[in-house]
Amino acid sequence: MAQSVSFAWRVAWVLLLGLLASPLRAQECPVPARGQSLTSSLSLLPGDDPTITLAQARDFARAGKFRPLGAATPSFGFVSGALWVSFDLPASDSECKSLLVIEQSRLDRVDVHVFAGDVERQTLSLGDADVFAARALPHRYLNASIDRPAGRELRVFLRVQSTSSVQLPIWLHTEASLLRLTHQEQAGQGLYFGILLALLLYNFAVMVSIREASYFYYVVYVASFGMLMLSFGGYGFEFLWPRSPGWQNAALPLSIAAVLGSSVAFARSFLDLDRTAPRVARLARLSIPLAGLMGLLALWPGLLLPMTMALNAAMVVFSLLVTVGAVLSAMRGFRPAYYFLLAWGLLITGGVALPLSSFGLLPRTLVTEYGLQFGSAAEMLLLSFSLAYRITLLRNERIRVEREARENLEQRVQERTQALSETAERLSLANQRLAETSLRDGLTGVFNRRYLDQSLPLRFADCVRRGQPIALLMIDIDHFKAINDDHGHATGDDCLREVARRLAGLARSGEEFVARYGGEEFAIVMPGADREQAMALAERLRREIGDKPVVTEDTTLRVTISLGVTCEERPGEESPLHLVRRADRALYEAKRLGRDQVCVA
Ligand code: GH3
Ligand code: MG
Ligand code: MG
Repeated sequence: MAQSVSFAWRVAWVLLLGLLASPLRAQECPVPARGQSLTSSLSLLPGDDPTITLAQARDFARAGKFRPLGAATPSFGFVSGALWVSFDLPASDSECKSLLVIEQSRLDRVDVHVFAGDVERQTLSLGDADVFAARALPHRYLNASIDRPAGRELRVFLRVQSTSSVQLPIWLHTEASLLRLTHQEQAGQGLYFGILLALLLYNFAVMVSIREASYFYYVVYVASFGMLMLSFGGYGFEFLWPRSPGWQNAALPLSIAAVLGSSVAFARSFLDLDRTAPRVARLARLSIPLAGLMGLLALWPGLLLPMTMALNAAMVVFSLLVTVGAVLSAMRGFRPAYYFLLAWGLLITGGVALPLSSFGLLPRTLVTEYGLQFGSAAEMLLLSFSLAYRITLLRNERIRVEREARENLEQRVQERTQALSETAERLSLANQRLAETSLRDGLTGVFNRRYLDQSLPLRFADCVRRGQPIALLMIDIDHFKAINDDHGHATGDDCLREVARRLAGLARSGEEFVARYGGEEFAIVMPGADREQAMALAERLRREIGDKPVVTEDTTLRVTISLGVTCEERPGEESPLHLVRRADRALYEAKRLGRDQVCVA
């Protein structure tokens, strides 16, 4: 059961294929393997008056006004009116069909009138003003099928009208010869659009992740260039928008406008023209508003053709401008500019050739038709590499600047810290010295009264806490006024210094210290010393001063001292001041008893 169903399907399928193929294949007129060019048999009615009718055109033909076009593929550039072209088809041996192919995809409208003698046998219409399905064969090339009766010569008149540039590579084909001619090219074009799509997707991903202006312009550029090539080659109409002749005709100028705006903006950003060539950058900035304006105007019904022409012209002008910018940028030593120039050169080779052939200044050749594909694919690949290279270059530059800034900063911080710590050290030294001098007696160098006043209560408290005794010696130089009076105050000062030096020399043990109490009076604090130790020291001091004469600059003097000694064996809560008072009293007692002696309180 299942087998018979599938068999029935197979039969139906074969019948259907045969039915579809038969009208063409069964009666195709023979042509050479790659088709038969009609270029050499084309003749043209000079001028492009759009009002000329078919009847008038035939009259002109009869009057011999049509001129042969010659061997090269006719290229007319932009035609604002309509062209009349004519050719003869020789009589065929048997009745057959010929596929009339214009190897071009973007002519708007070609009216084909086929005459046998004076009888119009066929009226056909080609062009992308019709939906794609109107073509005899689903192919990007414009094509229509011409019936050729046996033994009759045919005369064909073509009326050509288009808003894009007009080239007329007219051929006769069979289905097989057209396939043979274009299947390799189709693979090539597939490869080309594949490369563009991969570049587009890859760089779009990079753009999203690094958010760099150059990438944005590049992505828009690749997208609009792809759109331009799709509409220019007829692939967009064949595969993407076969039902939209309106878009097919608007897509070309719109994508040229997008290419113009994005490519110049890309160049400005990539080459850093604002910095490397500011004047070029200022002009380059015009490209986006200009392209936008022309793109919009192209949508206005009557302006499609003039705007397409203007966009092509603007493309040439801005190409030159960008070239100048790239050269200036390279001359200023901006390294990505070299890569850009190389890429740009590849594109320009194809890109300038295209508008030139559109204007009819270059013949239509393989180079003008496919050079742009080769050039643009190579350009976009190279630019994609250059973008990555440029990012690396910029990143390295940024890292270098950051590192330098960091190093500078670190060094400055280090210097500053060092200076600060030096200052702090000097300051603390100065403070220490200041503290010391404020506690030292200026003349004798022993501690001063302030130190005594501060330290005595502390030492006293220490001894209270430790349960130790504390002793105090009060010392007064005998008859010191007389020394001053007899030898002068300078000698008196020398004498004071010498006495202080000897006192300090003997009272240096442990926590003992000597302080100048005032005038020629000194005090010695002896923490931890009992009465005996204090008296022993007092006696030693008395002899130290009294036994050795004091030698000054001018004279040698015998100096004696009186000492009052007091000791607190078990210091308690009372103020240390009573020590001073008691020692003082003992000192006066020593004076009273005749001086040069020690008295104990
Ligand atoms: P006494 O034996 O009773 O202590 O008699 P004195 O002369 O030593 O005592 P007095 O208090 O009468 O004299 C102390 C003198 O010390 C008076 C003052 O001119 C002198 N004097 C005080 N301070 C200094 C000083 O710094 N340098 C000098 N050269 N003399 C000073
Ligand atoms: Mg005195
Ligand atoms: Mg005295």
